Amino acid sequence: PVSHGKPGRAKQQKQQALNNNKNRARTNLGGSFGSPSSFRSSDPPPAALLHTFSLHDARIRSNHAVIIPYAVETGCRSRRQRSVHGSSANQGLLPSTPRCPPGSTSTAYGAGRPLHQTVHPMLKKLFKSFRSPLRRAPRPRSTPEVLSSSQHPLKRNEISRHAISVVERLQKAGYQAYLVGGCVRDLLLDIDPKDFDVATSATPEQVRAEFRNARVIGRRFKLVHVHFGREIIEVATFRANHPQGEEEENSNQAARHESGRILRDNVYGTLEDDAQRRDFTINALYYDPTQEHILDYARGMHDVRNHLVRLIGDPEQRYLEDPVRMLRAVRFAAKLDFDIEKHSAAPIRRLAPMLRDIPSARLFDEVLKLFLAGYAEYTFDLLIEHDLFAQLFPASGEALKRNPEYTEKLIRQALINTDDRIHDGKSVTPAFLFAALLWPALPARVLQLQSKGMPPIPAMQEAAHELIAEQCQRIAV
Ligand code: ATP
Ligand code: MG
Repeated sequence: PVSHGKPGRAKQQKQQALNNNKNRARTNLGGSFGSPSSFRSSDPPPAALLHTFSLHDARIRSNHAVIIPYAVETGCRSRRQRSVHGSSANQGLLPSTPRCPPGSTSTAYGAGRPLHQTVHPMLKKLFKSFRSPLRRAPRPRSTPEVLSSSQHPLKRNEISRHAISVVERLQKAGYQAYLVGGCVRDLLLDIDPKDFDVATSATPEQVRAEFRNARVIGRRFKLVHVHFGREIIEVATFRANHPQGEEEENSNQAARHESGRILRDNVYGTLEDDAQRRDFTINALYYDPTQEHILDYARGMHDVRNHLVRLIGDPEQRYLEDPVRMLRAVRFAAKLDFDIEKHSAAPIRRLAPMLRDIPSARLFDEVLKLFLAGYAEYTFDLLIEHDLFAQLFPASGEALKRNPEYTEKLIRQALINTDDRIHDGKSVTPAFLFAALLWPALPARVLQLQSKGMPPIPAMQEAAHELIAEQCQRIAV
């Protein structure tokens, strides 16, 4: 009901989203979360809910509002132009699958006979090899494309000296080590990285042995935090895909739910393995600050240039392994103003209910990353578009169906407000965010209780209590 309105409205919303989220100066989020003071909605502020919340002291390490440099490398293109370009990427380079003549169907080609009866097998093979790369998942590469310092814009001096010192120290100790993930991707797009992640051939114990200031953390995904004052460099050992069947069952390192969801992900591997098990192609670029090379195993540079969020491997399988990747796809699409490549987008609506199986504490972290990074309003649109919002906030999803205008207006205003505060360097609080997201579900509950004879104030308190209790089942507020 939100983003599928009239075309004029959708366009206006998109423009509004771009104005709110994209064309602003980069601002660091200063300070800790304080109390919200400037909720400007004409609707009543969700004070009752806010009051009823008992929130953990949630903190995000750091956040950046993001400016997207439209003019980087690919030239100044609008979002619309880019999506056209994105969806037809490479069509000029590679011939696409042969088209049927007008009036015929894809299976009836020529004289009404199926393709396999009219086209020589050799030709079929040829056509197959010419298929547009968008029709299939990128092939795993065992040798990377190597970009030397003159072929990419990354500069050593843009990178945290602590991150470089971690990489150099590990390399000197004889291990492979690279900067990887969001920091490489963001630097390529001229965005200040949120944090610096290192991937290495050293095991967590070997990494810890190299640094006095290091701690091994995590169980599902073991990694090492190397502390430098307030800065933490996250060091992960190269992972491989999971062994199948019995081998996996007998392993302490790997565990998989019968749905395919990965429960424990500590199977170590080579650099090549590590590249294939990362989520998106744009997140699988490795930078070696010593040689100043970028290694690209998954055509990530191609997707950075074409502004596409594309899963590595078979999208359905990758979402089944970890449904949170659906939220990450939306998060990166909103943050970078990229399109989700169509095969990566296609299964999301169908698989969205898989989010129910994700531990509520992990979803809480993800929701904060989605909504407290300076582009919440646009993220909300994308979550609605991909049927993910109601999975995170079931009661608010119901309210959107029942009373779309009121619900959307209230949530959107709260998110615009949150984005504005972040862009202005003001503090934001998860309590306000959750209160605002849940508020629209409250009136119907209150009325329901009142209709059973409960007086208004107790009905309000009871309804708020019920809503929060239900929400906590999904997200550990
Ligand atoms: P940012 O830090 O800006 O939010 P990021 O891409 O660095 O973005 P992180 O959550 O810090 O995201 O993860 C670091 C890297 O680890 C990612 O870039 C990706 O390569 C890999 N990664 C993280 N989560 C997953 C996941 N669920 N599945 C596969 N790979 C993942
Ligand atoms: Mg990161």
